[in-house]
Amino acid sequence: HARTLRLQRYPARNNDTLQAWDAADEYLINHVKEADIPLDPARPILILNDSFGALSCWFANDGKVTTVTDSFISAQGCKANLAENQLPEVNIIDGLAELPQNPQLVLMKLPKNNRLLVWQLQQLCQLLPADCKVIAAAKARDIHSSTLKLFDKHLGETKTSLAVKKARLIFCQANPELAQPLPAPQQWDVPEHGITLSNHANVFSSDSLDIGARLLLEHIPSGSQYQDIIDLGCGNGVIGIKAARLNPQANVVCVDESYMAAASARMNAEANLETPSQLTATVNNCLDNFPAQSADLVLCNPPFHQQAAITDHIAWQMFCDAKHVLRGGGKLIVIGNRHLGYGGKLKRLFGNVTVIAQNNKFVVYQSDK
Ligand code: SAM
Repeated sequence: HARTLRLQRYPARNNDTLQAWDAADEYLINHVKEADIPLDPARPILILNDSFGALSCWFANDGKVTTVTDSFISAQGCKANLAENQLPEVNIIDGLAELPQNPQLVLMKLPKNNRLLVWQLQQLCQLLPADCKVIAAAKARDIHSSTLKLFDKHLGETKTSLAVKKARLIFCQANPELAQPLPAPQQWDVPEHGITLSNHANVFSSDSLDIGARLLLEHIPSGSQYQDIIDLGCGNGVIGIKAARLNPQANVVCVDESYMAAASARMNAEANLETPSQLTATVNNCLDNFPAQSADLVLCNPPFHQQAAITDHIAWQMFCDAKHVLRGGGKLIVIGNRHLGYGGKLKRLFGNVTVIAQNNKFVVYQSDK
């Protein structure tokens, strides 16, 4: 197609070798153009799980685009790429928000997580008019027969395309008879800490306590010097909630780039803290725009992938941000898989690192500012 877009990942990094789009985006765009699907400028086009805005940019002028994403980073990437290409703003909403009525077309990148997929299919099934087409795209290796069964079961009759450049499309026709109430957040207890956790569909380790988190929970300090505590990459907020209980004098801020994670941490603070207002949950990219010298303790169980790309640049960003945000004498406590070698990175950054606990898989490190 005689059209070029300039697309960057978010946050933009110098010499980034990772692309902001993939073969599945290209296949989806080519299919919609070649099939010449008539588009009504007055009806919504829903775009779900767009990584950095490639689809939102391509279709921005074709109708009333609403982009649905659980990722703050994807939302920021989408906005930045729309602006870079001088395209109109699109309506960007998070996955827990109500979807716009009467969409004409749904374009979807398959989410990594099947719980989120089922949540989204059920949301669509309740909403879609009979003439609305649903086209999903992914790497062929991520489309299993079990994935197609989920579409059949929760949305409607499903077919797939041939593979092109190792990507495939899924075509689905919504059947309103399959509509069901949306599933409740997954709930379970951490009995040894007396905590009950609820998890929206896209929360990390949403059906059991992460084994790294389990070790970190045992090594959260308490004391009157901890007035401002941050749980960086909070998921369901379990680490922040434990820190708040051990430090009733402290303000705790839980930060995650997933809207569903921040919403879960909020819900879990209400259910597990005597003074829920002690804890704030917010979406952000690491600690962007947090003031310098404003925290006494940062607790972090970092992620090691971004949109399916294995990378430790986010962990590194988290450590650098933590150093910036800590007051002199403040501490960063990090849990990591032994083979990730965070100790060397922390030593380089802070000039000191101590191993405060370890087991055969995980190490808990502390660096002091
Ligand atoms: N703290 C929770 C626990 O211990 O169970 C979750 C830890 S999980 C390993 C890492 C978390 O970091 C995920 O919830 C992920 O959504 C979040 N995350 C990933 N990239 C992020 C970023 N750039 N900024 C903030 N949070 C991010």
